[in-house]
This record gives sequence, C-alpha cells and structure tokens, in this order.
Amino acid sequence: MSRIFSGIQPSGELHIGNYLGAVKNWARLQHEYDSIFCIVDYHAITIAYEPEQLRARRHSMAVSLLAAGLDPNVCSVFVQSQVPEHTELAWIFNTITPLGELERQTQFKEKSARQESVSAGILNYPVLQAADILLYRANLVPVGEDQVQHLELSRVCARRWNSLFGHRTGNKTEDGADEREQFFPEPEPLLTPTRRIMGLDGRAKMSKSMGNTIGLLESPEEIWNKLRPAVTDPKRIKKTDPGTPEVCNIYHLHKAFSPVATVEHVATQCTTAGWGCIDCKKVLADSIERELVPIRSRAAELAAKPKMIDDALSAGADRCRRLARDTMDAVRDRMGF
Ligand code: ADP
Repeated sequence: MSRIFSGIQPSGELHIGNYLGAVKNWARLQHEYDSIFCIVDYHAITIAYEPEQLRARRHSMAVSLLAAGLDPNVCSVFVQSQVPEHTELAWIFNTITPLGELERQTQFKEKSARQESVSAGILNYPVLQAADILLYRANLVPVGEDQVQHLELSRVCARRWNSLFGHRTGNKTEDGADEREQFFPEPEPLLTPTRRIMGLDGRAKMSKSMGNTIGLLESPEEIWNKLRPAVTDPKRIKKTDPGTPEVCNIYHLHKAFSPVATVEHVATQCTTAGWGCIDCKKVLADSIERELVPIRSRAAELAAKPKMIDDALSAGADRCRRLARDTMDAVRDRMGF
C-alpha cells in the first residue's frame, strides 16, 4: 500500500483554507493509503512564539484534526518533536542542499520580506519538510498548492541523496559499477480541487499569519462578521451592477461549500444582478454552517477528553518512531556513521 505523509503547523485552530486544501482530503485518503499526519511544531518555532502557547496550540490542533475526520484507529497522527529523527535527517539534507536553491523559494522570499531579522530556520524550513516526508519514505503528499514548490525541493533532496549514498556496499550492477538504489522515493503532490483558498481580503492566500481566515470552530456569528465585509468582485459597486463570479472569492467559496445546484443559482443571480453580494454571502454562510456543525460538535466532545487526545498522539508517535529509526539506521549505515 502506498504511503502518504502530510504536516500542519500547530497554529491553534484549523482555518477553512487548511481544511479545504488539505485536511478534508486527508480524512478521505486515510481509508485508501497508509497515512501519516504530523503536527509540525519544529516548523512553528521558526517565528517568535511563547512556549505555553505552543503547548496549548499543539493540543487544539490535534482536537481540530480529529474533529475534521482523522481517525487515529485508521491513520497515524503525531507530534513532530516526539520523533527526534526529523531534525537529524534535516541536518543531513542541509549538508547536500545548495544555498541558492533555498533562497529561491517563494515562501522564503515572502516570509523574509515581512521580517526585520530572518532566521536560518526560515531559510531551511523546506529542508526540514523534506526530512519529514522522506523519513517515512512516503510516496504521496496531500497538500495545498502553496506547498508544491517545497515538495519539488523534497524530490530534489531524495534524488541527490540517492545518487550520493543510495547504494548498498558490495552490490554491483552488470557493468561493475556500484548499484544505485532509489532508497528515498521521490514524493508527488496530491492536490484537491480547491487547491488554493484566498483570504477574505481577496489579496493573499488564506493564512493564519495574514489574519484573513475563517476558523473551523468559529461560531456562526463570528463567521458572519467576517463574511459580511469580505471582498467580492471589485467591479461590482452597486447592487444593480452585474457581477463576474469567476473573479469573486465568495463564488469560489460557494464552489467549495454549496451544492452544485446552489452554485449554479448563485452564478445566475450574480451575472444578472438578481442578488446583491450580501444575499449571496447569506447563502454561503448557510452552506458553511451545514458543513461545520458536525465538526464543531465533535470538537466540543473531544476537547472534554484530553486523555483520549494524548493517547492518540502517543500511539501515533510510537509507530512513527519505529519507522523513523528503521530509515535512520539505513541512512547512517550508507553514509558511513
Ligand atoms: P498556514 O499557511 O495557515 O500557516 P500551514 O502552512 O500549516 O497553514 O498549511 C497546512 C496545510 O494547509 C498545507 O497542506 C497547506 O498547503 C494547506 N493550506 C494552507 N493554506 C491554504 C489555503 N489558503 N488554500 C489551500 N490550502 C492551504
């Protein structure tokens, strides 16, 4: 069975971008693949943080993931820092990754432009990601579109390491050369139909760090207070102006949350100026609510059972530690340690 791996930062609560671009897909894929999902707390410390807050956020991310449909009896869910081999393999990959490749990463450029002082951790973030994935020799990585460039770097890491060290001592090919083995598979992205959700400001992707999100566990009132002023088609000034659904973020959210018939109706009402943007947003709020009600109620049940969450994470870490040790035994051996 092919293996999938994906990670998410413990940013507290999931937002609908994470959910539609990644986690909703994970909940489906766990039944089709050997699935490993990781709360990547070592990634989260590449920007300033409070230790107590990190602890709380790790826990609430686990609650959100299970509420959104991950089943610890079907897949492995664990916390990255519980498996120290992640950082060990990342160090090894750092030594074979040219600096220029990291400096070219779009996310590095964006994140470093927003900060006065840029840590080496932000630059090396995709190398740790490569280690996360390759430690489990995963074949597929279900992520949003924002992660595709990072994943390409993981593929390059795998290829480069394989060509430098991917051979067993003594094994020869027919023409006498050392036999090269694809020890690390080159992982491929698995994208969802809603691969990139824009923020409510309509300018950048929806992201916790941009403050333009809708949280999965927010109340209907909180969601409506964010949806009401959200950016729509910029050319639609008055209610009587016909709109262009394809340029409107609200329409794209309809496509993710509303039934097909509603999406079609929304498009007609928009292009004929039958509805104003507020009418359209009210229907969207109802569709979002339908999807989030069961998630919110599962989260409330899970939040009341902290031991169940801890047990699930610790069973996940036990399994992943075993897999990680096997990989690192082979890596160390082939690299001369
Ligand atoms: P954030 O960008 O909010 O910090 P993460 O970097 O932890 O979120 O991303 C977790 C997962 O969610 C990744 O697979 C990522 O591709 C996906 N994701 C994050 N934001 C979006 C978005 N706006 N649209 C689609 N997928 C997203």
